[in-house]
Amino acid sequence: MKQYLKQAKEISKFMRRLYLQKLTTSLGGNISMKINDRILITPSQIDKNDLKAKDIAHLTTNGDILKSKHKISLETPMHIAIYNARSDVQVIIHAHPFWCTVAAIWGLQIDTNVTDEAQFNIKKISFAKYYPMGTEDLANEIAEKIKYSDVVIMPNHGIVCVGKTLIETIEKLEIAENLAHISWLKQFNDKLTFLQD
Ligand SMILES: [Zn+2]
Repeated sequence: MKQYLKQAKEISKFMRRLYLQKLTTSLGGNISMKINDRILITPSQIDKNDLKAKDIAHLTTNGDILKSKHKISLETPMHIAIYNARSDVQVIIHAHPFWCTVAAIWGLQIDTNVTDEAQFNIKKISFAKYYPMGTEDLANEIAEKIKYSDVVIMPNHGIVCVGKTLIETIEKLEIAENLAHISWLKQFNDKLTFLQD
């Protein structure tokens, strides 16, 4: 397992970062990375701000546990389904960022044509159908939607982003969060009040 230590350290670092950036809660969200025939994934119910390389679970691409100190992430079936649907994906980040969750609750359409970085990095955001967290139905729904875009909003839940590297994938999440905030504010465009001369 020592050969995967560097990647496990990176995953735990990015999970701590996700929490510190307030892009997920103390116990919420998960990150996985596919390396050849192995999937490394964050555990369930462990403080995200205190995650270490030794806490990261090792799975086969079918989801069988090779090594795990803790209970594995509840959303592991979703990660496996996504890797099966997209052979180009090497990193998956699932989180509950505030503005994306607002969009996920209100069914707010998120515009990707308002900033250059969104057009360049994301292009399209898909909305999934609602299924309860951790279920096979949710895993199948997200795996279907992820075929058409790297960013999927999960109704009444959060977001999932995919990419080839951790930095590229978290960038998509950060951009989506900014876009969700902008899209929310856009609703109040005609309610601007100006000071009289
Ligand atoms: Zn979640």
